[in-house]
Amino acid sequence: MTLATERLAPSQRSPLLESLRSVTGPDWLLSQPDDLLLYAYDGSVDQAMPDAVVFPDTTEQVQAVVRIARQHGVPVVPRGAGTGLSGGAIARCGGIVVSTSRMNRILEVDIRNRRAVVEPGVVNEDLSTHTKNFGFYYAPDPSSQKACTIGGNIATNAGGPHTLLYGVTTNHVLGVEFVTMDGTLVTTSGLADAPGYDITGLICGSEGTLGIVTKATVQLLRSPAAVKTLLASFDSVASCSAAVSGIVAAGVVPAAVEMMDQLALEAISQFIPQANLPTDAAAVLLLDLDGVPSELEEQEASIRAVLQNTEARAIRVARDAVERDLFWLGRKHAFGAVGRISPDYYVQDGVIPRTSISPVLKEIGLISRTFDIPIANVFHAGDGNLHPLLLFDNRVAGALEKVIEAGNAILKVCVDAGGMLSGEHGIGMEKQKAMPMVFSHDDLAAMQQVQAVFDPHSLFNPAKIFPAPAGCAEINNLRRSTTPVQGHA
Ligand SMILES: Cc1cc2nc3c(=O)[nH]c(=O)nc-3n(C[C@H](O)[C@H](O)[C@H](O)COP(=O)(O)OP(=O)(O)OC[C@H]3O[C@@H](n4cnc5c(N)ncnc54)[C@H](O)[C@@H]3O)c2cc1C
Repeated sequence: MTLATERLAPSQRSPLLESLRSVTGPDWLLSQPDDLLLYAYDGSVDQAMPDAVVFPDTTEQVQAVVRIARQHGVPVVPRGAGTGLSGGAIARCGGIVVSTSRMNRILEVDIRNRRAVVEPGVVNEDLSTHTKNFGFYYAPDPSSQKACTIGGNIATNAGGPHTLLYGVTTNHVLGVEFVTMDGTLVTTSGLADAPGYDITGLICGSEGTLGIVTKATVQLLRSPAAVKTLLASFDSVASCSAAVSGIVAAGVVPAAVEMMDQLALEAISQFIPQANLPTDAAAVLLLDLDGVPSELEEQEASIRAVLQNTEARAIRVARDAVERDLFWLGRKHAFGAVGRISPDYYVQDGVIPRTSISPVLKEIGLISRTFDIPIANVFHAGDGNLHPLLLFDNRVAGALEKVIEAGNAILKVCVDAGGMLSGEHGIGMEKQKAMPMVFSHDDLAAMQQVQAVFDPHSLFNPAKIFPAPAGCAEINNLRRSTTPVQGHA
């Protein structure tokens, strides 16, 4: 997609910038094209230029920015680290990008109640690093955790390798504070089992379309007493896939079950050779078991039995924490590794029943051959959350369109297998058109009615999630003709 330029006319832009400057000061406002270009991207293949980027330092500044956006009738797009893979943080219809990068303080660690209060720009891994000395950690662990923010994780309801046992972000967020479109601050409980509507749950996964999260109360877990990490290699993808459902059917729920195929292993071994992953296997499983040592022995015995039945050709157990970290270093750098062997890659995020991994991977192989696109698979196998990485060169005319078409074909295979469009990356502007594959007209209308309650003029991250019948120009014109210029609606 080329850079969309739904930019404001100078007569609208100057007063907008003037108002924003009065809130953030000149140092925390970007408005020059070269600077704005850096914020026209996220981790996806989409791009669009914002009109301004602001870096508020406080909740009050976020409220003031949102009120200005409303007065001027321009879109507001919250942005964390911009690692999103579905175009969520891109200002598709122009407007103001609100970066949370300065709001990165851990405000409170309450060990007795096992929770922390954080600002949205706190980097995921920093929270666990901070609480490690207390013997606690924050469980959701996206592979991007060295960069992505808690605010972005909440908005996308992020998952990660260890969500198999521990659940996704929504299972760990106890309460949020967020700014609505009239600049009001809403605070949800922070206590488990609060009465009333589950607004915290609604905000999780709302992709910046309902409000800007300015604070979150999250649950901390005690670090496990012991961890065991196994690496099992297979001569066929089918037997590796069979092992995944076999392990769960045997009544064992490991903390993580990740799968990598041969192309992914080759890429990782070039980038992170110290991980020492086998490159001659058709596929490997990386498994984490955690708990008390006696439990781990039992779990390992059950898993070994399944691995042997499914013809694993080798099973390695990490000797110590160093080797364990190296295995995981390889897995967590898999996307970066694939980025080194191909000029570009496009990642899909379909979810399927665990039992369908083998036939669906076969279909993906067929799509790879039909479209002549190499596809590496590295994914959260325990959750059935696939991440096929389609390798291409964006400099070649038509290559992007071809991978998008192949990506859509993969999504269809996932849906036909009883799955879903996204496991964790969100819909953003990437999969809007696919929403009717899994939601009826009435389902989508119900969601849009909820969105309209929070943001009647669709100023928060417009033209995302829902299939957009109109282009941004039409949406912006409609909005400008209906948005009140001042005061409250
Ligand atoms: C190498 C790599 C590996 C990845 N692995 C995983 C993985 O294992 N699991 C996973 O779930 N994802 C993964 N991702 C995708 C991405 O990291 C996650 O979606 C992450 O949650 C995005 O966080 P962010 O801070 O970068 O948010 P951004 O990309 O900046 O924004 C994402 C969405 O959140 C909204 N948003 C951001 N902050 C706020 C806020 N304060 N209030 C309201 N809305 C907000 C934005 O508007 C946007 O819609 C990966 C990405 C990469 C590049």
